[in-house]
Amino acid sequence: MFARNLASLGAQIVAFGIARVDSLHNLVMPLAHPSAGRFGDFGGRYVPETLIPALDELEAAVEEAAGDQAFIAELTGHWKTTIGRPTPITEARRLGAELGLCIWIKREDLCHTGSHKLNNALGQALLARRMGKRRIIAETGAGQHGVAAATVCALFGLECVVYMGEEDVRRLELNVFRMKLLGATVVPVSSGTRTLKDATNEAMRDWVTNVADTHYIVGSCVGPHPYPLMVRSFQKVISFEARAQMLEAVQRLPDACIACVGGGSNAIGFFHHFEKDESVRLIGAEAGGEGVETGKHASPLTAGEPGVLHGSYSYLMQDEDGQILDTHSISAGLDYPGVGPEHSYLRDTGRADYYAVTDNEALGAFVWLARSEGIIPAFESAHAFALLKKLAFENGSTILVNLSGRGDKDMETASRLLNL
Ligand SMILES: *Cc1c(COP(=O)(O)O)cnc(C)c1O
Repeated sequence: MFARNLASLGAQIVAFGIARVDSLHNLVMPLAHPSAGRFGDFGGRYVPETLIPALDELEAAVEEAAGDQAFIAELTGHWKTTIGRPTPITEARRLGAELGLCIWIKREDLCHTGSHKLNNALGQALLARRMGKRRIIAETGAGQHGVAAATVCALFGLECVVYMGEEDVRRLELNVFRMKLLGATVVPVSSGTRTLKDATNEAMRDWVTNVADTHYIVGSCVGPHPYPLMVRSFQKVISFEARAQMLEAVQRLPDACIACVGGGSNAIGFFHHFEKDESVRLIGAEAGGEGVETGKHASPLTAGEPGVLHGSYSYLMQDEDGQILDTHSISAGLDYPGVGPEHSYLRDTGRADYYAVTDNEALGAFVWLARSEGIIPAFESAHAFALLKKLAFENGSTILVNLSGRGDKDMETASRLLNL
C-alpha cells in the first residue's frame, strides 16, 4: 500500500515538474491560518451556533488531509486525469500586437466542465468522502459550480442538491439540464433577486438543518472559516502552474496578473503564488453592470463597505441600514453582492487593485477575444480581458490574464444581445 502510494506520488511529481515531495505538499498547504481564518480584520465565522461543530469538523478534516500524502496523491492524480491539469498558457499574439503588449492567457477554460470551478469542487468532494458525508449541497450562479459539484458527485457516487436562483435557472437553461443529466436535483430559489445571493441563503438554511450527513460545497472563497482558506488551497494550483509556465516560456514574471472577481476564487488562486513577487501587479475586475454610478452593478470592492454576509466579514454592497443591495451583472457568476475576505484584505493593504468593468465593456471584450484569438470566453472572464484596453499599461509590458472559463454557457444570451 505504502509503496504504491509512493509510486503514484512519484508519478505526480514528474507530471508537475516538482522536485521534492514536500513541495508537492506545499501545493495544497498551508491550511492552518495563524489568526483563525482572519485576513487582517476580514473573514472569521459569523454563523448560527449549530454550524460551529460542522466548521470545526471541516477544519480538522482539511488539516488532517493536507498532512496525508495519500490524500495529496489522490487529489493531484485527479488534477491530471479528471480535470486535465496542468492547463497551458497561450500567447495572445494578435491582442498583444494590437495593444503593444505581450499578453499571455492562463487557460482554465480548458478544465473539464469548462472552468476553474472543478479544482475546488473536486477537492471538497474528496474531503466530504473522507468525513463520511454522502449528501452534497451547493449553490450556483452561472451554473458552473453546480455542474462541477454534480460532476464530482456522479464520479464518487454522492447525492447532490444544487440551489439556483430562478432568474439564473432561466438565463442558463443549458447548465440546469447538464446538472440534471449528471443526476443532481436542482432547486430553483424564488426569494430576493432570485440570483446567487438567494441561492446561497437557501443552501445555508439546508446545511443548518441537515448538517449531520451533509457537506456544503461552497463555490467560491467566501463563507465562514475555513472555507476561504480551503478554497484558496484548492485553487492556488492555477498560479503554481502559471508562474512556472511564464518563467519557462518567457524567462520572466509578468508585470501584471489580471483576473475577474465574483466571490474571488479564480482570482485568489491565480494571484497566490505571485503575491510575494513585488514587481507583479495584481489586478481584479469586478462586475460594473450598467455602471457603478447607476447603482446597478456587483462591485463591492470598488463601491461597497465592509459588513457581514454569508458567515464572514468582508466588503459588500449594503444600504445605510445594513440591508444587502440588489446586484446586477451580465454574467451570473459575478452577480453577487459580497466578495471573499482575502480580497478585502488585498484591497485595503494595496497589494491588489480592483476595477469595475461594465456589461458593455465585457461584451466588447467577449467579441474581441473571439475574433482576435479564436477563443470564446465566459462572460465572467471577458471582464478581465476588458481591463487590457481600459487600463493604460506601459508599452511592451507582459500581462498574464486568467481565462477562468469558456463561453459555451453564454451562447444563448450572447446571441440575443449581439446582432451578428
Ligand atoms: C463562477 C465563475 C466565476 C466567478 O467566481 P470566482 O469565485 O470569482 O472565481 C468566474 N469565471 C467563471 C468562468 C465562473 O464560472
